[in-house]
Amino acid sequence: MKSSLNLGKVHDIGIFIHYSWLFIFLIVAWSLATDMFPYYYPEFTTKTYWIIGIISAVLLFLSVLLHELSHSIAAKYSGIKVSSITLFFFGGVATIDEEGISPMKEMMIALAGPLFSIVFGMIFYLILQITEVNIISAIAFYLSRINLILAFFNMIPAYPLDGGRVLRAFLWGWTNDLKKATMIASKGGKWFGIGLIVIGVLNIFFFNFGGLWFVFLGGFLYMIAGAGYQQVLIKQELEIPLTDFINKNFEKVSLNESIAEIMKKAMKSKTLQDTSTQENALALQNAFIVIDKNKVKGIIKIKNLKELSDEKKKSLKAKDVVEIVPLLNQSVNAYSAFNIMMRTHNSVLPVVNNKQEIIGIVDGNKIINYLNMKIGKSSE
Ligand SMILES: [Zn+2]
Repeated sequence: MKSSLNLGKVHDIGIFIHYSWLFIFLIVAWSLATDMFPYYYPEFTTKTYWIIGIISAVLLFLSVLLHELSHSIAAKYSGIKVSSITLFFFGGVATIDEEGISPMKEMMIALAGPLFSIVFGMIFYLILQITEVNIISAIAFYLSRINLILAFFNMIPAYPLDGGRVLRAFLWGWTNDLKKATMIASKGGKWFGIGLIVIGVLNIFFFNFGGLWFVFLGGFLYMIAGAGYQQVLIKQELEIPLTDFINKNFEKVSLNESIAEIMKKAMKSKTLQDTSTQENALALQNAFIVIDKNKVKGIIKIKNLKELSDEKKKSLKAKDVVEIVPLLNQSVNAYSAFNIMMRTHNSVLPVVNNKQEIIGIVDGNKIINYLNMKIGKSSE
């Protein structure tokens, strides 16, 4: 998540802000200070327009953040883990662990955000009603409108927008078929994305370049709608025991073995590869498991060793280059294992039993091949 700035943690949930938000912040403050506020409140000075423009932009940011936090709190309340929230240019995305989710829970989590936005918007509307025309009422005017727009926009039934999630949860509960429900909801997302692009292009042709925003937003929605569906397919195909992917034919080395010796072993595996079946060969040449007193210490990737100088290959030992990696328990399913591998950028991981003893390794490429075979066949 290098494209985002870490703002810290709220209730154990990491809050990130995408860099594009800083740009949006300036655009919002600028357009409010030079366009909207002077139009509706012509009696203020330029300096005042900028002050309330900046305050409003900060409060817009807060509105989006609290909207996302509402989803997260609803998720936590239903026992679903939320690891992080990232605020993008159009709003935010909460990374919710899909493990243990049900149609009812998904619906509650999806509705929590727009509900918050409506309530927050109503509060500013009340403030607007009870204050005289001054800078506070100007800010309240903008915030009441923008929060209601946020609620409305997010409730459009286009997955992965909140409305799309509600639609998916409804279809899922009705048909009991998550795959089909996601397919329909993400088609809504794709069509909405296409619609925004068309509106944007027409706007550019007939009016001004403001339409570019719609093109960006539409393109982005179109992309993530497809990715959401793909994610569900992957999850469904990989909800099988990890056992099918465990390769028991792996190489072990001890902490004190020298790199030169390990390289020799690797060469041997390479010749073995020609006689062995192809899938075993894949794992054999990629990594070695480092073992000390029956415990897994980590792995050594052969490709990293190749970059060492001949001198270093002689002087360094396994313990100097071992990489500490997460251990997969043999009882996790293939989906969890695949997620751990993706998250930690490891293509090979050791698998252990409940006593933490090594029983094999899993090669991510094997899982990807399996997915290509399964999803490639069923996607049309
Ligand atoms: Zn939302």
